[in-house]
Amino acid sequence: MNGTRTHASGTQSAHEAALRADIVHTACEMERLGVNQGTSGNVSARCGAGLLITPSGVPANALSPDALVWLPFDVEADAPVFAQPHRPSTEWRFHRDILRARSEIGAVVHTHSNAATAIAIHGRDIPAHHYMVAAAGGNSIRCAPYATFGSQALSDYALEALKDRTACLLAHHGVIALGRDLAQALWLANEVEVLAKQYLLASQLGPPPVLSDEAIAEVVRKFSNYGLRRASGDGDGT
Ligand code: 13P
Ligand code: ZN
Repeated sequence: MNGTRTHASGTQSAHEAALRADIVHTACEMERLGVNQGTSGNVSARCGAGLLITPSGVPANALSPDALVWLPFDVEADAPVFAQPHRPSTEWRFHRDILRARSEIGAVVHTHSNAATAIAIHGRDIPAHHYMVAAAGGNSIRCAPYATFGSQALSDYALEALKDRTACLLAHHGVIALGRDLAQALWLANEVEVLAKQYLLASQLGPPPVLSDEAIAEVVRKFSNYGLRRASGDGDGT
């Protein structure tokens, strides 16, 4: 990995190199799945005592592993890394704050996917119209109040909306989806978009009926042993 930018001491570990490749792959998959386009959205993954994050304003098809930026969890806004040509995503605050606060989370995906964002424009939560809403951890996918992109207020609102959840909407903005790894976070970001489309379709026939808290609690329990699995068969769907 000679000549590759590293986060700490000068040598990039095989783990970090694989993670960088996986983040680029995830960003490209977001575009292929139609949950993101252009320069919207961003991706991060836990890496040592910090995170690897996509650079600001670079479309997925122009991303390279070396363009990703490593930030320590205690990074401040005046750090030199923010003056680099490949500066970190403007949303570094919520990526950092989520990964720092939630030790079970290894990856964060942010999209502006259309159907979910349409609901977020109304500032509405996605209710339990379908049992798969429980894939995000509870009986709704909450919508965080509006705050300017990249702000600490947006991060604070997002963390609140993500309490006991692995996905939330951001009012007038988009979606955040979390996972133990990048594949799970990407899977959930796509599920949120599918759920949003189904909710919008069902709403055409009137306000959709929702499942009871008991029904959702049972699904949440079942999801402890169901969901996206790696090809090896390990992992669960939490
Ligand atoms: P970045 O290009 O800075 O990651 O911003 C995209 C975005 O979605 C901001 O909310
Ligand atoms: Zn955004």
